[in-house]
Amino acid sequence: MRRSLKDQLRQLYGFSCGYCGVTEGDTGAELTIDHFQPVVHGGSDLIENLVYCCHACNSYKGDYWNPGAEQRLLHPRNDELSLHLTETEMYQLRGLTATGSFHIAQLHLNRAPLIAYRHRQGQQQLLRQEVQDMRKRQERLAEEIEQLWNLLETQYPQQDL
Ligand SMILES: [Zn+2]
Repeated sequence: MRRSLKDQLRQLYGFSCGYCGVTEGDTGAELTIDHFQPVVHGGSDLIENLVYCCHACNSYKGDYWNPGAEQRLLHPRNDELSLHLTETEMYQLRGLTATGSFHIAQLHLNRAPLIAYRHRQGQQQLLRQEVQDMRKRQERLAEEIEQLWNLLETQYPQQDL
């Protein structure tokens, strides 16, 4: 496969697995290329047929191909995933349709390391939000202090505060 095509695919998928979401940074390596329609079933090397994905998802997917059936796999870019699956509060994926449930089971998207990964991601998101809130609060406090100093200076213009 041409290097430029792989780089194009990496960009397209944000350097992360199209199926489970782990990134190159998380795995410490470039990910793999999946032929959504497997080569053995006539799939092409065109970018539309390629999915950037991690080793685990690629091997669970294998050469499965059952288009048009309820028990088919979802394409990360061509299917509206939110119609088929959702994430629970416990960081599990749950099917909203029979196809969604099949997709999750086939790709083992509730494997333990992935649940732990989503949990960590969730915690990090909460922490980022907290840091952001605290920065805003700090800015507001700094403004209040500034206003109080200005008030003091107008009230006591002759004094060295
Ligand atoms: Zn994956």
